[in-house]
Amino acid sequence: MSQKVKATKSKKEESSSKKSDGSQNNEKMLAPKPKSSSTGKSPRKRKSEGSAMEKSKAVSEASSSESSDVDAKKRKKQKKEDAVGGSLQDALKKSRLSAAASVSDFKFNKKRVRLVSVEENLKDDAEGIVYWMSRDQRVEDNWAFLYAQRLAVKQKLPLHVAFCLVPKFLEATIRHYGFMLKGLKEVAEDCKALNIPFHLLIGYAKDVLPDFVKEHSIGGVVTDFAPLRVPMQWVKDVSERLPKDVPLVQVDAHNIVPCWIASIKQEYGARTIRKKIHDQLSQFLTEFPPVIKHPYNSMFKAKPVDWKECYASLEVDRTVKEVEWAKPGSKAGVDMLQSFITQRLKSFNSDRNNPNQQALSNLSPWFHFGQLSVQRAILEVQKYRSKYKESVDSFVEEAIIRRELADNFCYYNKSYDTVEGAYDWAKNTLKVHEKDKRTHIYSLEKLESGKTHDPLWNAAQLQMVHEGKMHGFLRMYWAKKILEWTNSPGEALKFAIYLNDRYELDGRDPNGYVGCMWSICGIHDQGWAERAVFGKIRYMNYQGCKRKFDVAQFERRYHPKNFA
Ligand SMILES: Cc1cc2nc3c(=O)[nH]c(=O)nc-3n(C[C@H](O)[C@H](O)[C@H](O)COP(=O)(O)OP(=O)(O)OC[C@H]3O[C@@H](n4cnc5c(N)ncnc54)[C@H](O)[C@@H]3O)c2cc1C
Repeated sequence: MSQKVKATKSKKEESSSKKSDGSQNNEKMLAPKPKSSSTGKSPRKRKSEGSAMEKSKAVSEASSSESSDVDAKKRKKQKKEDAVGGSLQDALKKSRLSAAASVSDFKFNKKRVRLVSVEENLKDDAEGIVYWMSRDQRVEDNWAFLYAQRLAVKQKLPLHVAFCLVPKFLEATIRHYGFMLKGLKEVAEDCKALNIPFHLLIGYAKDVLPDFVKEHSIGGVVTDFAPLRVPMQWVKDVSERLPKDVPLVQVDAHNIVPCWIASIKQEYGARTIRKKIHDQLSQFLTEFPPVIKHPYNSMFKAKPVDWKECYASLEVDRTVKEVEWAKPGSKAGVDMLQSFITQRLKSFNSDRNNPNQQALSNLSPWFHFGQLSVQRAILEVQKYRSKYKESVDSFVEEAIIRRELADNFCYYNKSYDTVEGAYDWAKNTLKVHEKDKRTHIYSLEKLESGKTHDPLWNAAQLQMVHEGKMHGFLRMYWAKKILEWTNSPGEALKFAIYLNDRYELDGRDPNGYVGCMWSICGIHDQGWAERAVFGKIRYMNYQGCKRKFDVAQFERRYHPKNFA
C-alpha cells in the first residue's frame, strides 16, 4: 500500500475513531448502495433463505455433538480429563457458543476493519461475498472470516472463501508449502461442512481474484492483514484491479489489537508499545463467536481441488524436507496448545531459556500460517494465571507484546530486513566497526552445513535444518555469531534471513525479520559496552551459554554424526 493511501486511511481512522463506538465507517461501510432495494433487484433465487432456522439448526448441531450418548463410564473419564484440560477442541466449541450463536448476534468490534478500496458500498445485484484468505488460514477464531460471514448473512448472500496459491514465495520450500497445503485442505473440508465453497485459485491474486469476482458477481471482498511488503503489494494490486464498484476491506485477524490501532507509528521498543497494547486489550481480547453453517446457498460449486496434483505442481525446493513433529492444520494446532497448557506452561517462565528443556509452547508454526489464533491461545492460557502467574505473564509478553511489536516494526519501517532499517546509533556503531578484524570468516555454504569451529552453533544450525525449529534462546546466539563471522553487518543480515526463511517452519514472518534485526542491528534494544565487530550491539558468547544451560548435552543431541 502506498504511503499516500495509508496516510489517507489513517486520517479516516483517526476521525472515525472519534465516534462514540470508535468504529470506522461503521454504519455505511459495505452496506448495499442506498438505491438498491432488497426486494427490487434481488439476485437469482436461492435455495435457503431461512437464516434463523438454519442458525438454530447449526447451533443445536454443534451442541448435540457435545452431549452425545456417552455412557456413565465415558462421562466419568471425560470428567477426569476435563480436570487436566479435557478435549480442548470440544471446550472451544462451547466457549464460542457462549459468546453468541453466530457472528450476526455478536457485537463485532469494527475497529478491526479498515477500508482499502475507494468504494465503500456493496454493489447492486451482488451474488456473494468473498473472504480472500491469505495470512490467517483457519476457519474458527478468525475475525476476517467472521466479518465476511456477518456481511454475507446481513445481505442474505452466499459466502465464498478464496485462497490464491502462488508457485513460489520468498525462500519457502516444500517444508513450508507442505504444511500450508495440508492446513488448507482442512480449511476446505471445514468450509464444505459449513456450506461455504472454498476456491483454490492458482496464481497471483492480482491475476486470478478480480476475474473470479467479476465472473461470479461478487459484491464485496474481505481479506486479512500481513505487514510484509509482498502481501501488502498483493492487496494493493488487487484493489487496483477489482471492479470499481466492489469494495475491499481488510481485517487484522492476526494481532489481538489491530496493528494500525495499537500504534500509528514505529515504536521504539517493547517498553513504548506495551502500555498502548495493554490499555486496549480489554476491548479486543474477547471470546469469538462460531462460524455457522451458512444459510445462503451458492449458485455455483467450487472446483474440486486435487491436492496431490497441486502438491506435485509446486515450483519449490524439495530438498528441505517436511518435519514430523509439527502436524499441520488447525486441529493439530489446538492439540499443541493443549499439550502446552497441560505439560509445559508450568515451567515456561523458569525454563524457557534452556534449550534442553521442553518448556516452550512450540506454537510458532501454527501462528505463522494462521492455523491457530494467537488470541485463542492467550484466552486459554490466561485461564491458568492463578496457578502459574509468572509463566502466564511471560507468555503474554512474548505472544502479544513481542509479536505485535514485530508486526509494528515491519508495517511502519519499509527497510525492515536491511541494515538501513536500524536506528542511527546502531548504524553508526556498526559502520565504525565494519572493518574490524574477524576471528573467523565463514561462507554461506559453511554456515548452512553447520561446519564452523563452534559445536554449539553447529548443533543449533542442525536443529533448525532437520527439525524446522531452532530453540528460541539459541536463535539469538546463532544470529549474533553470524555477525561475528561474516564480512559485514549487511552480509550477516542477508545470510541470517536466508537461513531462517529457508529452514525455520515459522520463517518469513515479521518475528523472523525483527529477530535477525534485534540480534545483528540492535532493533528494539539499547547500546551496550563497546567491543570489536559488534560495536555497541549486545554481545553473546559461548561461556555465557554455558552459564545458562548444559551446552554439552545440547551438542550431543544435535551432533553431526546423529544426522549422517
Ligand atoms: C534470530 C531470530 C530469528 C527468529 N525467527 C523467527 C521466525 O522466523 N518466526 C517466528 O515466529 N519467530 C522468530 N523468532 C522469535 C522467537 O524466537 C520465536 O517466535 C520462538 O522461538 C518460537 O517458538 P515458540 O512458539 O515455542 O515460542 P514461545 O517462547 O512459546 O512463544 C510463544 C509465541 O510468542 C511469540 N514470540 C516469542 N518470542 C518472540 C520474539 N522474540 N519476538 C517476537 N515474537 C516472539 C511467537 O509468536 C511465539 O510463537 C526469531 C528470533 C530470533 C532471535
